[in-house]
Amino acid sequence: MNDNIFLVSGLPTRFSSPIVVRPYELSWFDVELPDPEPYDVVFRNRACLICGSDLHLYKGLHPFAPLPACCGHEVAADVVEVGSKVSTLVEGDRVYISGTGANLVPCGECIQCVRGEASRCENRKAPISFSVDGKPVSRFPSGFGEYTYGHEAYAFKLPDNVSYYEAAVTTDLAYVIGVVRRSGAGIGHVAAILGAGPIGLRTLEVARLAGISKIIVSEPVDYRRDCAEELGADFLIDPKMTDAVDEVLAATNGKGVDYVFDTSGSLAATRQGLKILKRGVGGLGMLVLMGLYEEPSLTVNLSELMYKAGKIVAEWGIREGRTQNIHDALHMLAEEKLSIMKWITHRLPEDKAVEAMEMLINKTEQAIGVEIVR
Ligand SMILES: [Zn+2]
Ligand SMILES: [Zn+2]
Repeated sequence: MNDNIFLVSGLPTRFSSPIVVRPYELSWFDVELPDPEPYDVVFRNRACLICGSDLHLYKGLHPFAPLPACCGHEVAADVVEVGSKVSTLVEGDRVYISGTGANLVPCGECIQCVRGEASRCENRKAPISFSVDGKPVSRFPSGFGEYTYGHEAYAFKLPDNVSYYEAAVTTDLAYVIGVVRRSGAGIGHVAAILGAGPIGLRTLEVARLAGISKIIVSEPVDYRRDCAEELGADFLIDPKMTDAVDEVLAATNGKGVDYVFDTSGSLAATRQGLKILKRGVGGLGMLVLMGLYEEPSLTVNLSELMYKAGKIVAEWGIREGRTQNIHDALHMLAEEKLSIMKWITHRLPEDKAVEAMEMLINKTEQAIGVEIVR
């Protein structure tokens, strides 16, 4: 088919989508843009935040997304075409799409679906699929490409004063809101945040809004630590230069912290996280794991953990309270409660996607939040 053929609606019949076929290699594939199924929507992407998990995927080390796979699932977009039964969106709506490419659509027929538990559907399927060399592409399509496709239930209208650039952070903001809420952390507590990348900085801002009384941030990269300071961290640690465990104990009169939000994805940091948990009776001290690990094996001294009555909680994705967390995130953005644009350091076009990921992996160009925009 000729690439220049356009439908009457003005949409192209094909578009090009970037796919990671081999580690550290992004290739563009010509893909058909389908007519939407009754409840599906075609979106034109406007901004896609590069997530830490995209970097694991690009390296071929994502634990749940085998290659070939697509990067880019944190997207703000325009609705450009809707299926015949879509009732919540119209062409031209500005939306945030939850989990572009990563969301499976419930079947509507299995026992979980008929009970109204669509998120537990036993037969979920991808809304659109594509194969490379006979292998299905995971997380297809990419939020870096021009178009994506999905079920209407995954799109949320943007408040008028929220830009595409701000809206692209909604996924991880909603995730962090859910994590902090479920942890129970709030007024009077002391927390340590390990890592000051996009998730760590968002955790810092949400923790501050939740009323956490003292927030300690440990981060080895200077410019990221500076950003944490600007966003209101009470105490900063450079774990390259000092012993992070000693520093935290000194900053807390030897007691340790009530909560550790470990966004680092680094086993060395996680070991420190266990050591700085407060000792106490009755379940004080919670270590919340929030970063994916490329080497996932950790040896834990279980007796030490029991002595501290500590808890380890692993949090992945926006699960429980998904819709509420997303609405709360969009509301926070609309009310300008966060300094998002302070750490969105770069906005680049699709053809710079490789450079964008390399600068995040190598921590160059002062990169923290990098978006692919159009
Ligand atoms: Zn993500
Ligand atoms: Zn089902």
